[in-house]
Amino acid sequence: AQSALDAIAARASLNAFLHVDAELTLAQARAADARIAAGQAGPLTGVPIAHKDVFVTRGWRTTAASKMLGQYVSPFDAAVVERLEAAGAVSLGKLNCDEFAMGSGNENSAFGPVLNPWDNTAVPGGSSGGSAAAVAAGLAVATTGTDTGGSVRQPAALCGVSGIKPTYGSVSRFGMVAFGSSLDQAGPLAASAADLLPVLDAMAGFDARDATSHQSHATVQAQYDAARAGMQEGAQPLAGLRIGVPAEYFGEGLAADVAQAVEAALQEFEKLGAQRVAISLPRTDLAIPAYYVIAPAEASSNLSRYDGVRYGHRTASYGNLEDMTSRSRAEGFGPEVQRRILIGAYVLSHGYYDAYYLQAQRLRRMIADDFQRALGQCDVIMGPVTPTVAKDLGENRDDPTADWLADIYTLGVSLAGLPAMSVPCGFGQGAHARRPVGLQIIGNYFQEGRLLAIAERFQ
Ligand code: GLN
Repeated sequence: AQSALDAIAARASLNAFLHVDAELTLAQARAADARIAAGQAGPLTGVPIAHKDVFVTRGWRTTAASKMLGQYVSPFDAAVVERLEAAGAVSLGKLNCDEFAMGSGNENSAFGPVLNPWDNTAVPGGSSGGSAAAVAAGLAVATTGTDTGGSVRQPAALCGVSGIKPTYGSVSRFGMVAFGSSLDQAGPLAASAADLLPVLDAMAGFDARDATSHQSHATVQAQYDAARAGMQEGAQPLAGLRIGVPAEYFGEGLAADVAQAVEAALQEFEKLGAQRVAISLPRTDLAIPAYYVIAPAEASSNLSRYDGVRYGHRTASYGNLEDMTSRSRAEGFGPEVQRRILIGAYVLSHGYYDAYYLQAQRLRRMIADDFQRALGQCDVIMGPVTPTVAKDLGENRDDPTADWLADIYTLGVSLAGLPAMSVPCGFGQGAHARRPVGLQIIGNYFQEGRLLAIAERFQ
C-alpha cells in the first residue's frame, strides 16, 4: 500500500486519482498485516485497489467527477466497496472518470482529463479512464469501474489492460451513483484475466438492496472452475471452442491497425484449438441510436435528484425555489451531462415518447434477440472493442457525437445485458505505435467466469 501511494504521488500528472488519504489507506494495510499474521488472510488480503469515484465511500469524497457533488461525503459504503474490503482489499482512494460516467475519453471530468500512461498526448478512454490509467501505470493492482455502454471495456482497451463487464445484475448497484439504471453494471480492471478473477468473484453476488440483483447463479469462481475443467491439457486447451466473428464488427469505420491486431489475436485463438464461425449481428449500428435514447432518458430521471436542496451544489444567490434549482443545476452540471438531461427529457416527453423512447426499447429487445441467435451458433463472440486506438486529447472537443459513434462495438452488449471483457491484443501502427488495442470477448448470460478462463489461455 505504501509503494502504491508513493507511485500515485510520483505519477500525479496523469490525474488518475481524485482523492487519496494515506492515513486511511495505511490503517487498512496495517489491519491486513494483522490478519495475515493471525493466519486469517482472505483472497484479497492486503491487495491495494482503488475505486472509480462513482462508488460511494465513507472515507473519501464521492464526486462522480462533477462539480455538483464536489464536496459530497457519503454516510455509507457502496456494496462493491464493502465486499472488496470484506475480502481483505486495501482501498487506495478514488479515481477520476467522466462526469456521472458520461463519456468515452475521460475529458468530461470537472477535475480535468486523465492522461493515457502509454502516450500522454492520448486520452485514456472513458468513462472509467482513471481506473484504466491507474492499472496501466502500476498505481493499483486492480481498480473498479462501471460500464453502462462500454466504460470498463473501452478504457481497458485504450490503456492496454484487462477489464470485464459482468452480466447485468451480477454485481450490486447499491451505492453506485446512478446513470442509466437498466444498463449500469460495475466491473473490475486489472493487468490480466487471472488478476480479474478474484476481484470480480469478491464483487459479485446477490444483494437485497439492489432490486435488479440476481439471486441464483454460480459464483464467478465456480463458473471459471467449470470452464477450466472442460479444457484439455496440452497445446490446444481451447479445442472445440466456437468463436463467433460478427461481420458487422469488421466493416466500414474500423481502422486498419485495429483490424490487424484483432485478426492476429483470432489467429492466436485458432492455434489454441478454437475455430471461427461467421455470424451476423445485423442491428449493430442501431445500438447507437437506441442507447443514446435509453441512457439519456434514464439519466434525466436519475439526475433529477440533484435539485440544490437535499445534497450537492447549491447556487450562492437566487430569487425563488425554481430559480435556486435551475441555477444550481446550470452551475453544477457540465456540458455533456446537460446535453444528456435535455435529450432524455425530450425523448420522454408527452408526444415524443412513442416516437423515440418506445422505439428504442423495441430495438433493444431485437438487439438482445440478435445476440441470442448468434450465441446459438457459437460459444463466444470476439471482435474489436473500439474502431480506432485512443484519440488525441481534445480531438473530439467540438464534435460530441463523434465519441458516441465510436461506442458502436460496446453498446449492443450493454443493451442486451451480456457479459463481455476486453483483453490487450497489440498496438496501433505508425504514429500510434504506443497506443494499445483491445480484443472484446462476449459471452452468454452469467458466463463471466468462462470468459476469464478463455482469456487466461490467450494471455
Ligand atoms: N460512452 C458511453 C456514454 O457516454 C458509455 C459510458 C459508460 O459506459 N458509462 O454514455
